[in-house]
Amino acid sequence: MDKIEDQLKKPLFKNWVKGGLAYKYLKVGLETFTDDAVHEEHSRLLKDTKKKNIEVCNKCSLNNLKPKHEKEFIRQTRQYSCPYRQTRCNCLYSDKIECPKGFCNEIHNEILTNHASNPPAPNWKNTHISEWSIHPWEIAKCFINAPGYIDKKTVNDIDIAGILHVFINNMRLHPYLDCLLNHNDIINKTLQGRNMIFHSPSMELTLDDFTATTDNMITLLKDKKGLYLNENAQKAVENIKQLKRNDIYITTQNEVDVCKEIKQLEEVTNAQQNTLKYISQKQELQKKLIK
Ligand SMILES: [Zn+2]
Ligand SMILES: [Zn+2]
Repeated sequence: MDKIEDQLKKPLFKNWVKGGLAYKYLKVGLETFTDDAVHEEHSRLLKDTKKKNIEVCNKCSLNNLKPKHEKEFIRQTRQYSCPYRQTRCNCLYSDKIECPKGFCNEIHNEILTNHASNPPAPNWKNTHISEWSIHPWEIAKCFINAPGYIDKKTVNDIDIAGILHVFINNMRLHPYLDCLLNHNDIINKTLQGRNMIFHSPSMELTLDDFTATTDNMITLLKDKKGLYLNENAQKAVENIKQLKRNDIYITTQNEVDVCKEIKQLEEVTNAQQNTLKYISQKQELQKKLIK
């Protein structure tokens, strides 16, 4: 491994740090817009259930909830299967309990049918079902692919990957963006760029990749449907542009500590477990390195 002073001066390492910082600006820039969208979608759900005379519930558990749909008998395999192709779906078991109010299975069905993947893939591990009626993010978090968000409460707690997933996977939020989501769209490209940077084992980023990634972020933040009018989003555009223009001076108060951190990060890079912890460690490091 290079000496820490040499590492800090390397252009590819600087690009990587700048890339991480750009994603921090992007996250802050998307926060209010995302939070508003998540709250509006939650209000819509509550309004729709109210129209159906369904009262809210906070008593059910996801392990026992009988879903709104029924299992289907497949002639060819002579077996029952979930019509939404969910493996281990509660519809396959006869001992599941209906929500006494009909609220939880209604919302469960909305999450399932609004998920953009084929088959739909809500992440039930991220949510507290008992809070669906009061906390909009408990519903939104079902659209985040990765686990680890169960105890996250507000948009500030959600990292950039989570924010992007919420838009990509919840079809009800697609109308908030002008870009057409087709796996090769600006929001998916932004997510891919984020993964490239945060999973980079070498902690290096080429100038071309830095430029492309930050250009994508700016395009997203200037989305014509509404983001271009959002004050925080436009502040983020300015911050990212400034980052693109300027060199950065990487400094460290305690070189030994930073060196140790880089070493630790390298050790866990290939371990697939603890991904969130790994990323937050990297982000901490980036914060420390940038004046
Ligand atoms: Zn099912
Ligand atoms: Zn219930």
